[in-house]
Amino acid sequence: MLDFEGMTELSKSFREKLRAAATVTETRIENVFYSSDGTRRYLLKLGDDKEVEAVFMPDERRDTICISSQVGCAVGCKFCMTAQLGIKRNMTAGEIVSQVIVVLNEVYGPAAELPHKTNLVFMGMGESFLNYQEVMNSIRLMADEKGLGISPKRMTVSTSGIVPRINDFARESVRPRIAISLSSAIDEIRDDLMPINRKYRLDELIEACREYPLSDRERLTFEYVMLDGVNDSDQDARRLVRLLNGIKAKVNLIPHNPAPELPFRASPVERILAFQKILIDGDVPAFIRRPRGQDISAACGQLAARH
Ligand code: SF4
Repeated sequence: MLDFEGMTELSKSFREKLRAAATVTETRIENVFYSSDGTRRYLLKLGDDKEVEAVFMPDERRDTICISSQVGCAVGCKFCMTAQLGIKRNMTAGEIVSQVIVVLNEVYGPAAELPHKTNLVFMGMGESFLNYQEVMNSIRLMADEKGLGISPKRMTVSTSGIVPRINDFARESVRPRIAISLSSAIDEIRDDLMPINRKYRLDELIEACREYPLSDRERLTFEYVMLDGVNDSDQDARRLVRLLNGIKAKVNLIPHNPAPELPFRASPVERILAFQKILIDGDVPAFIRRPRGQDISAACGQLAARH
């Protein structure tokens, strides 16, 4: 229903108030791509025909939906296809929430009870903390029992390291988990891989992480994309251990998902294992992420609204 006038179960005066204060737009599925591993990539069209993507990843224990917060991205990480789109615009809170509803409806059918076993990750297109207010509004809508009733503990917001917003996020009363995309413990390398580092240096970022309030069982998650010969040496691993010293952290090692447009190769498996061992020996829990949906361009860093 795209017209308030047609919502006749609402009073006329309320419909008029709605018409003055709000608009209704529709998020449509343009295409769904199905991976051999069960992952689904959704190419979605927003009300103004701009395209974003969401990814559904089924798992025996808990499904995960990866959603976008912006149309494109301005941050320019060198290992990410979304960066090549540039930024088109921010998404509204309604558009962010609509991705989850559209995906759940396609997977389970519109009449299904909301599955409470769903994790949400803000790791699709965009830097969530450059669209902070709308992302926070969408989180409150999704967490509310009258909304989608998804616990903030089941949501993770990823950031490339926008330090002032990390500090704001730390003070939010409804707060999902946070994941920080790091990909190097050395400023010179990070400057090159993630240009945002030239604005928010590693020492500033790590200081914000040290001050970040964590519950007893919570850890800060650091994402580290493994790039062959760039950031994956033993020395890189030892520097990472030193950088995270004293922080309740865990590290997700993400094998790079190559694309012809990107200038990197994935680190070999034995290199990733050696890197992981150095972290674990240094008391930093480290996990290797299994790539999902590589065959349909749905994996980490591959989202580029491909048709
Ligand atoms: S990794 Fe995230 S922040 Fe970096 S360019 Fe891609 S979408 Fe933007």
